[in-house]
Amino acid sequence: MEISIQETIARNILTEAKGYLDVGFTHSLNPYSGCGFSCRYCYVREMPIQRFKEIPWGEWVTIKKNAAESYRKEIEKLRKKAKSVNIFMSSATDPYQPIERKAEITRELLEEMIINPPDFLQVQTRGPLITRDIDLLLKLKEKCKVIVSVTIETDREDIKRVFAPYAPGIKLRLKALKEVHDAGITTQASISPVLPFTPDFPKTLAGIVDHIWIDTLSIGDGAMGKRSERLGMPALFQENGLEKWYQHNLHIKVKKYFNKFFPGEMVRVSKKEAFPQ
Ligand code: SF4
Repeated sequence: MEISIQETIARNILTEAKGYLDVGFTHSLNPYSGCGFSCRYCYVREMPIQRFKEIPWGEWVTIKKNAAESYRKEIEKLRKKAKSVNIFMSSATDPYQPIERKAEITRELLEEMIINPPDFLQVQTRGPLITRDIDLLLKLKEKCKVIVSVTIETDREDIKRVFAPYAPGIKLRLKALKEVHDAGITTQASISPVLPFTPDFPKTLAGIVDHIWIDTLSIGDGAMGKRSERLGMPALFQENGLEKWYQHNLHIKVKKYFNKFFPGEMVRVSKKEAFPQ
């Protein structure tokens, strides 16, 4: 798939958290606009940034060239006002999508954060490229709380190929999680959105994650399932004979199942539980 790459100077890089992020995170940080991973269920497809664009989601990325510099100015201002800064990176793009290998915007941000740390940083990604930055994450961890959360929606590669054909393979993501965890950084597997999985899924996460976060297409699209419906997700499940996995209370059942393998506090599902204390 051909991706159109552009550069921009962003006015701000920290966005005040609202909606589902308003659970302890004070800001979201998106080093890019657009996302080359192009997941079919991605709720950003239904947000104004994409709805008013002619070029399809997944086929464009805008690099925020001044991200690190802008971060420094913004955090300095917030610190003058004695504000806490708990960052979710990223909510509407992936900080370790393919362009990051060359552009290094996320890496520059981490370098700046080591100098001007937030109180808390959660990195949210599907990109195994995150292992490149373990050196910086270790330094940052000395200055603030850091969690690396890797999305593992399922343990089935065939299912991943249906719902997120351009995203990295599940095995590669698990390998990255292990590497980050082995380095001594707190990790989370974000089963988000839950896709059909095998009974052994919990076992593949054992020993490589400290937290498990569960979200579904019905509760995790920022519109209580409406965006997922507009994206045709119920039909996609049906076409693939998976309709029994498209249920409103799926998160409750999945949490119950994972709690057979992991202690209660390790598996989070409700909005209020999202920010690890
Ligand atoms: S990686 Fe995240 S932002 Fe990118 S397409 Fe997938 S869900 Fe959307």
